[in-house]
Amino acid sequence: MRLSRLFLPTLKETPTEAQIVSHRLMLRAGMIRQHAAGIYNWLPLGTRVLQNIIQIVREEQNAAGAQEIIMPTIQSGDLWKESGRYDDYGPEMLRIKDRHERDMLYGPTHEEVVTDIFRNNVKSYRDLPKNMYQIHWKFRDEVRPRFGVMRGREFLMKDAYSFDIDFVRSRHAYNQMFVAYLRTFSRMGLKAIPMRADSGPIGGDMSHEFIVLAETGESAVFCHRGLVDMKVPENVDYDADLQPIIDAWTSLYAVTDEKHDIATEAKLGADLVKARGIEVGHIFHFGTKYSGPMKAVVTAADGGTVAVMMGSYGIGVSRLVGAIIEASHDDAGIIWPESVAPFRVGLINLKTGDAACDAACTKLYSELTKAGVSVLYDDREDRAGVKFADMDLIGIPWQVVIGPKGVAKGQAEVKRRAGGARDECPIDSVVGRFVGKA
Ligand code: ATP
Ligand code: MG
Repeated sequence: MRLSRLFLPTLKETPTEAQIVSHRLMLRAGMIRQHAAGIYNWLPLGTRVLQNIIQIVREEQNAAGAQEIIMPTIQSGDLWKESGRYDDYGPEMLRIKDRHERDMLYGPTHEEVVTDIFRNNVKSYRDLPKNMYQIHWKFRDEVRPRFGVMRGREFLMKDAYSFDIDFVRSRHAYNQMFVAYLRTFSRMGLKAIPMRADSGPIGGDMSHEFIVLAETGESAVFCHRGLVDMKVPENVDYDADLQPIIDAWTSLYAVTDEKHDIATEAKLGADLVKARGIEVGHIFHFGTKYSGPMKAVVTAADGGTVAVMMGSYGIGVSRLVGAIIEASHDDAGIIWPESVAPFRVGLINLKTGDAACDAACTKLYSELTKAGVSVLYDDREDRAGVKFADMDLIGIPWQVVIGPKGVAKGQAEVKRRAGGARDECPIDSVVGRFVGKA
């Protein structure tokens, strides 16, 4: 992409309405614009990052055996009357009447809808297990939408729902999602710590929140230092027994907010980490809470019928964009991990209009693009300082700088955004540095 053509409305001034760094940087880097309180437009740069995050989430869900579906954003209120949550959910639910005065709502979550799909289509234990997920917009009429996409009213969530015949098997489904979450967040360059959680309005008996440590996080967290350094499993066989992995991750103390326990903390001593964190995922096992009242039953091996055991598994996909920035930025701007960066390479032409610089840049741009490396080429006729500042602000992991002096010697400068290390290399070798390396 040529920067001169990209819709990238960056801001020089710090927007005063933004209280935390990720919100400020997302506005300044031209990633989002507010439409109404807690409701955002995603501009091209923000959309590219969001798509990269979606792709990682999708790959890890698929690897863990979940199957992607798409459910409606507008739901029928009748289903929620069946589960008993229509009255319980409260003012966070946006209620809508259609022209026939029917009660509709904009889905804040999808347990009812997915249970309805299941009960209408699955009748036998032989069709189990099943885990279905979607990556879709939710609406919750939050009292205090704030911090940009971190606490929006409309936000993008990955929500998965598992169905199993008994507790042992549904705990396996829970464990599969647990491990998939560890891998998902780690691929985004995040350290997310699973913490035992209350299950809130979703209900249930087993629940973990995945929390990214960040100063601006809304939750206070207390955990054992060992969790911060724990290694995320690679090459997972999701059919194997995952309980040992779960046991390792849940054996150490880790809680949020009011659940912390002074006596345990005192015992941990120097191993206690007291920090703040952002909830990026939340998994629940809730057994027959919905399948019971909504009659999602299957025939069992012994000929009887049983209500299926369920779990639900959320990831705050749009919140992750903010969380990654909170975890990875400096005074100059965002520092994207390569896995989610909107472009991998920023090509800076220091003297647009100079025939030699233009020729060298155009050639590099087309060769990198052909090789499958995503490049943002700053071909604008601006001062070098402006170009450096913008490229730093929007956080592209690698900057390739082409100027008249270097071109005369056949040299380019390559800068790593994280850490700022620079080196010179022959222009001919630039493509080779990026090809074949993720
Ligand atoms: P919170 O405690 O932050 O209000 P929650 O527990 O109500 O979140 P869940 O129902 O567990 O949220 O939803 C799954 C995930 O969706 C959360 O872990 C979070 O990452 C994300 N999420 C929830 N509410 C919002 C929101 N208002 N804006 C952006 N992301 C959200
Ligand atoms: Mg939650």
